[in-house]
Amino acid sequence: MAVSETIETVVNSGLCTSCGTCASICPAGAIKMEETPAGFLVAQINPSLCNLCGLCAKVCPGSHLEAGMISKEADPFTCPVLAAYCGYATDPDIRRQAQSGGMVTALLGYLLDVGQINKVLVTKMPEDGSLRPFSFFARNQEDLLQAQGSKYCPVAVNAALPQTFKEGDSIAVVGISCQIHGIRNAQIQNKSWRKHIPLAIGLFCDRTLNYGAIDYLIDKAHLVPDKVMSFQFRNTERTNWPGNVYIRDKQGVDYDVSSKYRMECKDAFTPVRCRLCFDKMNVLSDIAVGDAWGVREDKKGFSVILARTQRGLEVLRLAREAGYIHLEKISPEAVFRGQGVENRRKQWAAYTAAWKEKGKIVPDCGVNTKYQGDAEKGTALKPYVKQLDWAERLAKKKNRIQVLSAVNRHIIYKKIKTKLSLRRIGAALLLRVSNIWFSLNTVVRNLQK
Ligand SMILES: Cc1cc2nc3c(=O)[nH]c(=O)nc-3n(C[C@H](O)[C@H](O)[C@H](O)COP(=O)(O)OP(=O)(O)OC[C@H]3O[C@@H](n4cnc5c(N)ncnc54)[C@H](O)[C@@H]3O)c2cc1C
Repeated sequence: MAVSETIETVVNSGLCTSCGTCASICPAGAIKMEETPAGFLVAQINPSLCNLCGLCAKVCPGSHLEAGMISKEADPFTCPVLAAYCGYATDPDIRRQAQSGGMVTALLGYLLDVGQINKVLVTKMPEDGSLRPFSFFARNQEDLLQAQGSKYCPVAVNAALPQTFKEGDSIAVVGISCQIHGIRNAQIQNKSWRKHIPLAIGLFCDRTLNYGAIDYLIDKAHLVPDKVMSFQFRNTERTNWPGNVYIRDKQGVDYDVSSKYRMECKDAFTPVRCRLCFDKMNVLSDIAVGDAWGVREDKKGFSVILARTQRGLEVLRLAREAGYIHLEKISPEAVFRGQGVENRRKQWAAYTAAWKEKGKIVPDCGVNTKYQGDAEKGTALKPYVKQLDWAERLAKKKNRIQVLSAVNRHIIYKKIKTKLSLRRIGAALLLRVSNIWFSLNTVVRNLQK
């Protein structure tokens, strides 16, 4: 995809990642992040303020990654790793209420305590019923604790960065892959971003879910959004791994919604842009952190960590020496296996081919074709095209009630389809077994004659 004059084309093509980089860097203050009626968060340009400087398009990770970010020799789905660990925060409070092992929060706490950075850009779920996560600068342990836990929905993290940094600003950011891509694109364009953001902690990221997923999960608690005070996607303190959805209503009553509902709605609420993302492993961060999938039987209370740069490696060493974190070395391959990177490679190749087949422009992230894997061709692309059609249709819904009822129908239809095909498989198996039985019977009878 060529860099267009403004990010308008990206938004209109359904490729906005919601990262907010453009809103923060726009010198005219012409861009705001707005929620669409269907529950997507996208950049909107105010044409009366925009002077068409094109900076927004240059930093936009929805359309591209600046050339050379990923070395031509590297496998973009994994990229080089200096060291891989499984570990956790040694502070029991941090570890207890963390999404994984509290590694992100412990590292940030260390950096603030020793004064290596003076603020950290983190993301918090509100507790006032507004149900939309927001990013803010944490300056101490208390702020950091409030931001723990993963918000699996759009967050314009980078929009919270200042347009002009203060002289003493030394900021660490925490973000999913597209947010970190936005920062890296901006750091190429703007030296202030390079100087004032010395560290990026990345989260592994499978996808985000449209805000409609929050409505869907609230509905499963037989509540409506207006009655809800706070919402958490995965609470591992109240319920076992991977943690149920936790909702508190405005009367102070608590609800735990089974994680099976979160899992069953994922495909329905996945935006197109996440389907076209190659970067599950946050390859441009200094340190990438995720759950201990495939690395430990008992995943609760453990993070996996990839040191991706010398700076990241050094921070891990110092935080460990200072007693903030516990680390055990593991192999990067075990992490990639546990996270299903090979599946991501296939899915990315198929969705990208399907998007092209629909006549759309694909993001240009410099992914070397050598590593694309086998894009499924011809009719095999059909299910991917269908899934993208669905995501596009959902984005056009007029309001969140329409979104919710469309998704409910979609999920019921999928369940019926799965049951019917299971029945078909069952019937085929029965037929096969009865054939074998009859054949054996004939052989035995012939032998007895
Ligand atoms: C959308 C999303 C998808 C993910 N997908 C995977 C996956 O497929 N596999 C996997 O192993 N791990 C995934 N993770 C990461 C995992 O859920 C944990 O966030 C990670 O292991 C860090 O846990 P922790 O205990 O170290 O962090 P904690 O101490 O709990 O701190 C979490 C930090 O993450 C930040 N944060 C939370 N949500 C967001 C957000 N939406 N955008 C930016 N920052 C945020 C908070 O500000 C906080 O600083 C995903 C996270 C997100 C947000």
